[in-house]
Amino acid sequence: GTFQSMQLSRPILKGLAAVGYTEPTPIQLKTIPIALEGKDVVGGAVTGSGKTAAFVIPIIQRLLYRGKKIPTTRVAIFMPTRELAVQCFNVAKKLAAFTDITFALMAGGFSSREQEAVLKTRPDVVIATPGRFIDHMRNSAAFQVDTLEILVLDEADRMLEEGFESQLSEILTAIPKSRQTMLFSATMTSSVDTLIRVGMNRPVRLLV
Ligand code: AMP
Repeated sequence: GTFQSMQLSRPILKGLAAVGYTEPTPIQLKTIPIALEGKDVVGGAVTGSGKTAAFVIPIIQRLLYRGKKIPTTRVAIFMPTRELAVQCFNVAKKLAAFTDITFALMAGGFSSREQEAVLKTRPDVVIATPGRFIDHMRNSAAFQVDTLEILVLDEADRMLEEGFESQLSEILTAIPKSRQTMLFSATMTSSVDTLIRVGMNRPVRLLV
C-alpha cells in the first residue's frame, strides 16, 4: 500500500511529501480508505502510530472533494489536553499547506475572546479540548455546531480519564446524527465502549 494508491488529491500528496511521509503506517493504511468512504471508524491506536495523519488526511480529502461555497465549520477534532491539541493543529496545518482549508485551535490557556473572533470566520476544522468547546458551544452566538459533518475523538480513553465524559455526551447529542465519527483509543475500556455505542453509527473497528 502507498499513499499514491489511495487516490488522494495532488495537494495532499504535496503535503505528505513536504512533511516527509513516504510510506503510510499500518494505521494510516487501514484507516484512510475506510474514512474516505464516510464510514465511522474505531481505531485501537497509540501515540506514535501515525494516527494523527490517519484521520487528518481523509478529512482534508473530503473537505476538498466537497468544494467550498460559503464558509462553515465542518469538522471538530477533540483531544484530551491543550498540548495534544496544539500538536494536532500543527500537523494538520502542515499536511493541508497546499490547500485553502482553515483550522482553528480551541483550548484552555488561549484567550476566549480571540478564539471567538476566529470562530466567527467559520474555520473548516476546529481542534479542541472538550471543556473549551463546550464553553463556546454554550456561550458563543458565533459558533454553531449543527454544520459539523465529521467528528474525531482522539485518545478517547484519556479524554474519559480527564473527566470529560459528560461534556463528550453533551457534544455528541448537539452535533447532527448524520455525521461521520472517528474514535481512537489506546485502550478499549467499558466507558470507551459506552461512548462508541451512544455516539457512533456501525463503526468499522480497526486493530493495529
Ligand atoms: P502520531 O502517532 O500521529 O503522533 O505520529 C507519530 C510520529 O510519526 C510523528 O512524529 C509523525 O510525524 C510521524 N509519522 C506519522 N505518519 C508518518 C509516515 N507515514 N511516515 C513517517 N513518519 C510518520
